[in-house]
Amino acid sequence: MHTIFRKEIIELLNGDAREIFKKADSVRKKFCGDKIYIRGIIEFSNHCCRSCLYCGLRRENKNILRYRMLPGQIITLANQIAQQGIKTVLLQSGDDFGYNRKALSNIIYKIKNANPEIAITLSLGERPFDDYKAFKDAGADRYLLRHEAANPKLYARLHPGNTLKRRIKILEYLKKLDYQVGAGNIVGLPGQTLGDLADDILLIKRLDADMAGIGPFIPQSETPLKNFPFGNLDLTLKILALTRIITENTHLPVTTALATLSPEDGLVMGLKAGANVIMPDFTPEGYRKQYQIYDGKVRINLKRTGDVILKAKRKISLEKGDSLKCKKPQKACACI
Ligand code: SAH
Repeated sequence: MHTIFRKEIIELLNGDAREIFKKADSVRKKFCGDKIYIRGIIEFSNHCCRSCLYCGLRRENKNILRYRMLPGQIITLANQIAQQGIKTVLLQSGDDFGYNRKALSNIIYKIKNANPEIAITLSLGERPFDDYKAFKDAGADRYLLRHEAANPKLYARLHPGNTLKRRIKILEYLKKLDYQVGAGNIVGLPGQTLGDLADDILLIKRLDADMAGIGPFIPQSETPLKNFPFGNLDLTLKILALTRIITENTHLPVTTALATLSPEDGLVMGLKAGANVIMPDFTPEGYRKQYQIYDGKVRINLKRTGDVILKAKRKISLEKGDSLKCKKPQKACACI
């Protein structure tokens, strides 16, 4: 594939969606096959010390019942997910320092020790670098940390006190620690341009991310962005599709935000526009309702996961679904 430029991406974003989806689907088939990988999510805490303008977990939100699952509850639930044959458990939370390095390492160690066949993915936000190292040593395999917005000014506006530079530095450090790393962004953020979105795709490519989570902006009623419009469905699918075309074998999930934006068929459309991963939610009912990163968050359960895969005419994979990127040092690698 020739090097794609920002200008070309913007032109494609302005063009016909069907052509892009068709191309993305064939690239997906060639580089990822027909399997859909399943990741079971546990949203184990909605405490957060950050103030991201779009997110309902932001610390300024007082209209939310905060919860923190106990380590034993998290471990039991992870074991149950593994017993159902799902080989990735994703632990997600707000940026919550209520669990320290040792507590989280213990949880990770115990889950991995009881289920050596599974991958553990973390999505815990920004922490001291030594935490990432400790979690890796305890048995974590992957880390999801969306870059959120590749335009540094937009990033700074949306994340008071934080910078894109630091986010990228963390992603690069995670790679160095040998995590499989997930970046990704929100589509339709207030003030975002098509150029910014082109930069999102190019950043995912430059980072050589093993995964990328891409979903639409959904307003949340307790945030400063509550009155801004939803991200556009077609544009989100186009970004997903172009990310597939440009990065070829990156794992791309259909996101819960996409299902929330288009409850009828958002997920099927996502799978037909280049995605190859789905993440059913195992968070216990009472807690799930409190994990309101945005309004109306739908639940993707295991039954729905199966239905969606069937409807998209794809195959459920019960494999671990590691990165499809070549992990050998570039010089020794015959695949480039
Ligand atoms: N604290 C973790 C997890 C955050 S929640 C972290 O910082 O990585 C997971 C993802 O939800 C975020 O990365 C963000 O991209 C997405 N998200 C949060 N609020 C959203 C909103 N209003 N609309 C769409 N996506 C949102």
